[in-house]
Amino acid sequence: MPEALKILVVEDEVKISDALRAYLENAGYAVYAAFDGEAGLAMFNELSPDLVVLDLMLPKISGEKICQEIRRASRVPVIMLTAKSGLDDKISGFALGADDYVTKPFSPRELLARIQSILRRCSGGISPLYSRMSWNGGDLELDLESRALLKRGAPVNVTPNEFKILSSLVRYPQKTFTREELIDIALGEDFDGFDRTVDSHVKNLRGKIEDDTANPQYIITVRGVGYKFGGADRARKNA
Ligand code: CA
Repeated sequence: MPEALKILVVEDEVKISDALRAYLENAGYAVYAAFDGEAGLAMFNELSPDLVVLDLMLPKISGEKICQEIRRASRVPVIMLTAKSGLDDKISGFALGADDYVTKPFSPRELLARIQSILRRCSGGISPLYSRMSWNGGDLELDLESRALLKRGAPVNVTPNEFKILSSLVRYPQKTFTREELIDIALGEDFDGFDRTVDSHVKNLRGKIEDDTANPQYIITVRGVGYKFGGADRARKNA
């Protein structure tokens, strides 16, 4: 039998944590529970879990802070679990690098479905976060840390918004982003332009990184939905 996938549940409400543990164990996962932020981070570092369910309001270290710490080191999927339900919280959750967001009260069945969907999405091997990535034998290179973008070895000048859009797409190569999501995640919650603004950023980006803008291979249009990154299956990632 393959080893069970490890899920770390960081949640200070014992009742919720126990219920989740029972439900997720029943679904075949190995569940580890931490009841405050400090223990959550320690267990994360110790266990290298396959997925983290993270409450936001926690004793000692907040869920937001934990998410930031996790993202420094890892692309492990994070589902935020919280009583906060405002749009602003959702946006900042995604901006912190959460993969999904479930508001309380929630049904364990819904959370399980989301966990399964995210783990399926990640099974293509995108999990580790590499700061430097390259595609098509070095045709396109991106360093998320130094914010450098190279096309055939030559530096490409991109605007901050273009960089944010590209890095969002690259981080989640299996995901199709709606224009609204790209506005929220990349351009920020204060942005009040029209959806089509995203299209013009994408158009400019394509002009800079695609060989043939009429037939883009990196930023793919998903008709009726939005955009996704097309370099995933050809990615050659460098640590
Ligand atoms: Ca809490």
